[in-house]
Amino acid sequence: MKKNSWGFDTGDIDKNVRPQNDFYHYANGGWLKRNIIPHNEASWGSFIMLRYDTEKRLRALVTKLVKQPRRSGRGPDAVASGAVRDFYVSGLDMKKRNELGMKPLRPWLERIAKIKDVRSLVSALAHLEKIGGGGPFGVMIDQDMKDSERYIIHICQSGLGMPDRDYYLKSDAESLRVRSAYKKHLEAMFALMGKTKAESKKDREVVMRLETVIAKISMAKEDLRDVDKTYHKMRVPALARLTRNIDWHSFFKIIGARKVREVVVMQPKFMKAVDTMLASEPIEDWKTYLTWHLVGGAAGYLGEKFEKQSFAFYGTVLSGVKVMKPAWRRALRAVNGNLGEMLGKLYVQEYFGPEAKKKIKIVVADLFTAYEARIKNLDWMSPATKKKAVKKLHQMVRKLGYPDKWRSYHGLIITPDDYFGNAVRTTLFEHARIMRRLTKPVDRTEWFMSPQTVNAYYNYGTNDIAFPAAILQPPFFDPSADDALNYGSMGMVIGHEMTHGFDDQGSKFDGKGNRKTWWTKVDRARFDKKAKVLVRQFNGYKVADGLKVNGQLTLGENIADLGGTSIAYDAHQLRLKKTGRKDIGGFTPEQRFFLSFALFERELRRPEAEKTQVLTDPHSPGLFRINGPASNLPEFYSAFGVNKGDKLYRAPKDRAKIW
Ligand SMILES: [Zn+2]
Repeated sequence: MKKNSWGFDTGDIDKNVRPQNDFYHYANGGWLKRNIIPHNEASWGSFIMLRYDTEKRLRALVTKLVKQPRRSGRGPDAVASGAVRDFYVSGLDMKKRNELGMKPLRPWLERIAKIKDVRSLVSALAHLEKIGGGGPFGVMIDQDMKDSERYIIHICQSGLGMPDRDYYLKSDAESLRVRSAYKKHLEAMFALMGKTKAESKKDREVVMRLETVIAKISMAKEDLRDVDKTYHKMRVPALARLTRNIDWHSFFKIIGARKVREVVVMQPKFMKAVDTMLASEPIEDWKTYLTWHLVGGAAGYLGEKFEKQSFAFYGTVLSGVKVMKPAWRRALRAVNGNLGEMLGKLYVQEYFGPEAKKKIKIVVADLFTAYEARIKNLDWMSPATKKKAVKKLHQMVRKLGYPDKWRSYHGLIITPDDYFGNAVRTTLFEHARIMRRLTKPVDRTEWFMSPQTVNAYYNYGTNDIAFPAAILQPPFFDPSADDALNYGSMGMVIGHEMTHGFDDQGSKFDGKGNRKTWWTKVDRARFDKKAKVLVRQFNGYKVADGLKVNGQLTLGENIADLGGTSIAYDAHQLRLKKTGRKDIGGFTPEQRFFLSFALFERELRRPEAEKTQVLTDPHSPGLFRINGPASNLPEFYSAFGVNKGDKLYRAPKDRAKIW
């Protein structure tokens, strides 16, 4: 942070834009004009820059481990340093990876080659499930939302190589572009596996045909986020009747799921249709399909050619990026993804101080006070429901920085010369950990993000909010910066996550994480009516090539942004009462709050990546995540003097207000 600054560089402002017309470009325009997206990134902005800073630190940490002599002893820290270093080194060893080619995949390829009937097909699906799946359906062990102290198996739809079913089924320009590129990608991948040109073409058509059938029977993404539409608990005999071709007893045995009596089938219609497909589609086609998913899923861990070809589709076609990230970044991300908490513990020891923890506790506490007051003052919620909402808020658990209890990696073998093998062993290790859940009560202390992740989450089942150490850094958070920054930026994220506990889905769960209807019908109807205003507003936002934001898909996130900003605003006001107000650089505390808020979503994004985002992501593009809430908030109107005639002005009756 610069001296005499409050944490926000006012040189980033574009004074040619009126804040009342387009706040996003006013607050960020200078920065947006001065910056370009690095050639190996799909986007560039506050979030990703903080990820870069974090990766630089992680790189320094791992490089130190590579250079220093191997630590002796069997203590957890010595083992962790060795494993982190060896995984990283194995990723950088491209010579070895090229030499091995597809060899590491041999045991699984042989299993696929041996498939001769539905029975052996299902058994191959179970074996593949243990190393990350690849079949048309997947298995997860998650909390039972109607009995939140225990875990239960969830069976869910899967099996597509493109990010959404619409890419297979729609005929707009973007779907056609991606689809034809995907076909080329499939063909190229089969060629890399050693197939002739004619064989690769034929195989490509087989995969396209099967995936298109799977796309047709898949549940739409708008429905996927509805927890009621994806909860169908049944006993194993009922599951067996639904899917007569799958021998679940043997499937569960292979994946190591013990004592299974009940399951949650997330998409019963899909599973019934897949079951029919297993018997009706030619066995040879299934083998081709599974080979593609196995090799496609492993591409990043194989030799250079596979990794490059995979990037050509998932990087270039879907995100517009032309150049791959440097090898060290790719290897580091693999270590991050596979040994998250192991690396995280080392990261926290080095980079997360008590100052940050102390300050974030204060900010979070202010947010809770502000939200409680808001709930009590709502004009649309009944007194009985308000009482329950406040109770749920009090039960919400705060996870700050890093877990109190670190995950054990005891027994995991990592070597410096076997990148793919390291990934497989880690995946099997993790699979076994997840399977053990079935015999234990729910662990509410577990984190779903590692401490070095620049992100945050709310989880319905455990009713907790988590803010990993890596997001608690400048530019979003800085214990020595102005409170307007910490509340406008980080405070907004905290508020955002808190409201997820009360949005269209979160409000279906009580404070213990059980699916319970605690809103009256009238409350629900009033909430839905208010939410519709936001759906309409966001449906109106356009991006490239005539594509529009999907107001329904992004609803939960838009409610969270709007609510989060309001709550953070109030929390900042509470803080100001304690610290006193002052203007800095000609800006009032409220103006500084909103500038910091706009900083959070500052971002340049390639058109390809933006199109993929609006087609698949429940988060709206940054521009609308700032101007959208701003145009609804009376607090913003008074901070910047927004009036009738200004572009962001909305008539009071058209303004969305929920929290
Ligand atoms: Zn969210």
